[in-house]
Amino acid sequence: MNALEIKKLNVSINETQILKDFSLTVPQGEIHAIMGPNGTGKSTLAKALAGHEDYEITSGEVFLNGEQIVGMEADEISRAGLFMAFQYPSEIPGVSIANFIRAARSARLEDGQKLSAPDFYKELYEEMDLLKIDRAFTSRSVNEGFSGGEKKRCEILQMAMLKPKYAVLDETDSGLDIDALKIVAEGVNAMRGPELGVLLITHYQRLLNYIVPDKVHVMFDGRIVESGGPELAEKLESQGYDWVKDFDAVTA
Ligand code: ADP
Ligand code: MG
Ligand code: MG
Repeated sequence: MNALEIKKLNVSINETQILKDFSLTVPQGEIHAIMGPNGTGKSTLAKALAGHEDYEITSGEVFLNGEQIVGMEADEISRAGLFMAFQYPSEIPGVSIANFIRAARSARLEDGQKLSAPDFYKELYEEMDLLKIDRAFTSRSVNEGFSGGEKKRCEILQMAMLKPKYAVLDETDSGLDIDALKIVAEGVNAMRGPELGVLLITHYQRLLNYIVPDKVHVMFDGRIVESGGPELAEKLESQGYDWVKDFDAVTA
């Protein structure tokens, strides 16, 4: 089975253990949501998967369609097919979105392959039309003065152009207004299909009204404590996270 397989991952930040034997399998073609209270390690998971150097993987394995990515550099992991939405969050003045995406695409070509400017722009404009993004958008510098919604549009366009096997989207609740949320949802729904696996990290159930996941996992204290279908997100919405803490205490 083609899948993103996370096996007994232990991750520390500054010697404090955050992820504790974290295990999860996301088959290619499925969307899995991870929900959990603040401080539970959701962003730590995303950053550790992406190969962020501040996050020390002390043990465990992560396979991308059978290929071990623990120990790889961040850009190798990205080229292996794992997309991280927050990978380029900072402003890059002077580099247009189009050139930025073209550089990333070029880095993914096999030896001897070429991506001509006309071919690149043809593909870029096709994706932009699909995602209903205005053409003027791509000449702007990456993230320079972007609104929350525009940052999301840029990320979704990158994702559409890089065609990753798996995407990890860490949608923090802060600053995501309803329009930005819809941009993410429309983009993910447009790309949904057998070639893409998504790990959608979110604090609130709201996003899952727009992207209906195949599976929902509840994370608490560095690991998954409950898994189910979309109805699990509704339970969290109506009951909050207190029952999760009780559950954790019982099984700890
Ligand atoms: P979540 O995304 O679920 O809110 P985080 O992964 O951001 O959780 O944080 C998990 C724990 O790790 C928290 O206790 C947080 O304080 C700690 N933490 C996260 N990032 C860092 C960091 N860079 N340095 C030190 N501690 C951190
Ligand atoms: Mg947090
Ligand atoms: Mg977080």
